[in-house]
Amino acid sequence: MPKTSSPSTTTTTRPFIFQQLYQLFTILYKYFQSTLFIKTQTPVTKASTTVHNSINLQYYKGKTLVLDLDETLVHSVRLGTTESTVNASIKKKTIEVTSDKQSILYEVYKRPHVDFFLSTISQWYKVVIFTASMSEYADPVIDWLDQDQTLISQRYFRQSCLLKNGNFLKDISIAESDLSKVCLIDNSPSAYELCQENAIPLPTWISNPKDDCLLDLLPLLDALRFTADVRSILSLRDPKHI
Ligand SMILES: [Mg+2]
Repeated sequence: MPKTSSPSTTTTTRPFIFQQLYQLFTILYKYFQSTLFIKTQTPVTKASTTVHNSINLQYYKGKTLVLDLDETLVHSVRLGTTESTVNASIKKKTIEVTSDKQSILYEVYKRPHVDFFLSTISQWYKVVIFTASMSEYADPVIDWLDQDQTLISQRYFRQSCLLKNGNFLKDISIAESDLSKVCLIDNSPSAYELCQENAIPLPTWISNPKDDCLLDLLPLLDALRFTADVRSILSLRDPKHI
């Protein structure tokens, strides 16, 4: 079952994360200029291009992107409880979950651009879903997001979370033990309490049909895959803003 969540559960706003991303980009650009691409200032020969590409490929290989599910990629409403406020233009699917011989219906809505986002990042990263929801609910939702079973490599559910003060914490080392190669995108700050240097906070999504947050993340994710250690970039943010 999805965790109860609301826009007020995160203090991050869209303009704020936009500002954060801009700052990160500035840092990334300077970083690449000063390290990885410094050789482009000298005449490029065939041999040097080969070396350069192999360096990029070395960093590119084996990065893992861990994604939260509810209010990050989708939003679900239990039918018969609250009236849905989600715009009718949003893609949705009704999912039936059986628990304790009871059938519960959920209307699941896709965050805008989620299909494009998943198909793009799956070409860059090994994509893992790590959700605090139960597998009985989350499995069919993930099946809907990845209908050809080609985008998402692994799934972790509530039983893989650590419960602390009523919050579900996510230990992403179960997905990738080398923390230099893994990022966690999550709308809930408590989820990345154990791995703040690896966190990419995302504003909670409930119903806004014009939400572009997933698209806004793509340039950052495109750049991060070429870093030797994602934490060297992500940890440069002010910890108060994580
Ligand atoms: Mg969430």
